[in-house]
Amino acid sequence: MTSLTAANAADLVAALLFILSLAGLSQHRTARSGVAFGIAGMALALAATVIVASRSISAGAVTLIVVSMALGGAIGLWRAKRVEMTEMPELIAVLHSFVGLAAVLVGWNSYLEVEAHGAAQTAVASDLLGIHHAEVFIGIFIGAVTFTGSIVAFLKLSARIASRPLMLPGKNALNLGALGAFVGLTVWFTVSPGLGLVIAVTVLALALGWHLVASIGGGDMPVVVSMLNSYSGWAAAAAGFLLDNNLLIVTGALVGSSGAYLSYIMCKAMNRSFVSVIAGGFGVEAPAGGGSGEEEGEHREVQAAEAAELLAGARSVVITPGYGMAVAQAQHPVAELTRRLRERGVQVRFGVHPVAGRLPGHMNVLLAEAKVPYDIVLEMDEINDDFAATDVVLVIGANDTVNPAAEEDPSSPIAGMPVLKVWEAGQVIVFKRSMASGYAGVQNPLFFRENSSMLFGDAKQSTEQILTALDALTPVGAGR
Ligand code: NDP
Repeated sequence: MTSLTAANAADLVAALLFILSLAGLSQHRTARSGVAFGIAGMALALAATVIVASRSISAGAVTLIVVSMALGGAIGLWRAKRVEMTEMPELIAVLHSFVGLAAVLVGWNSYLEVEAHGAAQTAVASDLLGIHHAEVFIGIFIGAVTFTGSIVAFLKLSARIASRPLMLPGKNALNLGALGAFVGLTVWFTVSPGLGLVIAVTVLALALGWHLVASIGGGDMPVVVSMLNSYSGWAAAAAGFLLDNNLLIVTGALVGSSGAYLSYIMCKAMNRSFVSVIAGGFGVEAPAGGGSGEEEGEHREVQAAEAAELLAGARSVVITPGYGMAVAQAQHPVAELTRRLRERGVQVRFGVHPVAGRLPGHMNVLLAEAKVPYDIVLEMDEINDDFAATDVVLVIGANDTVNPAAEEDPSSPIAGMPVLKVWEAGQVIVFKRSMASGYAGVQNPLFFRENSSMLFGDAKQSTEQILTALDALTPVGAGR
């Protein structure tokens, strides 16, 4: 067997490993093996690529590739080890931007190579030159949209810029115009290629990517992250066509289609139009009102000791965690509180919103890490009808996902998004540090309801104070 056939066989095995990886990642139970399959597939793919490349390039160039891979791998490992769970979406957005940038560079390189050497001396057959030109343009376009779109997503997710949607006048026309211009430029480039056109499509796509993501509001950011994941897959597939690398095409298509499907599922969960979100909030007009972070009345405060008494006297308690629980790393004391209340005979359950936190499944991961039993962690649809019969709800660092404005105020930027109906419970205690709004920048009328009270402070400290106060109450079994 030659090194080339071995490399081709390795490509096939790597593609299968990637499919197994996706299958594994679809369930908690098998997620670890999914990650292991992915790592094995990627290691194999990299080795095969270097082997194939080494046949046509100098030993010096191979050394350069290996050194850059080692350097990139080391930086990746160092960053991934240091990153906090709450910063994960930002990291993912940055990584997507790299895929986009790589696709742009591959496109440019491919164009310049054919220009410099002529089709005859490159891998491109002259009768396929038109197709090659179209591939260059499509690769650069998808890559550049992914690149700037991911940078804006990173800036929004890391709160370096406001998460509010940018509402340029005629934004839908701008997006459609850019798409139309891309089609026109592609046809022109295929017929008569030139450097000016490559520059034009790059600038157009960079601007479009920026505008598409800037136009999407904070509440829809979860979909944007998975949408950019999908775009980065298509950008990689486009680069695969240009580099004549089948594995890159297969991998890109897998990432592209699974990312698109995840975006679709998240849009359904949030009652959003898939087409509207991927088209940069197409058809969504600026909110008439309700979008301000202004306070809307008087709020009541509660201290940890009172909260502990209320909990000890309750029959049923539902905990709805959100991003603030992740920031405070409060999952361990929350799990301990759950255990203690259950020992006292209180029914405790968790209500998890599909976009709570900053990652799909964020809360489930934290609660599993703190060893909260799976069977008391319920999805929003499973628990939403039970709030009316619940004595006390603890809203731990959640905000947008428990905002009644989504149901009651049609002018709210989050109108129509399904939320946890915590306000239907007997008493609601909101753990947060201030009256600040949530990720979508919308004030929450829940805080001003008669049955709500605010427990101000870091969620971890507040929960620990409740635990201490519970200790001071009548011992288990003696009181109720
Ligand atoms: P939000 O982001 O709406 O609100 C979190 C709240 O936690 C804040 O109001 C903040 O208030 C509070 N908080 C922060 N730190 C602490 C702390 N240390 N202790 C106590 N409270 C704290 O959270 P939700 O989970 O309800 O909603 C998630 C939002 O993020 C949604 O808008 C969703 O669309 C968006 N999103 C979700 C993604 C996903 O995939 N899940 C990805 C990207 C965005 P204060 O500052 O006053 O303490």
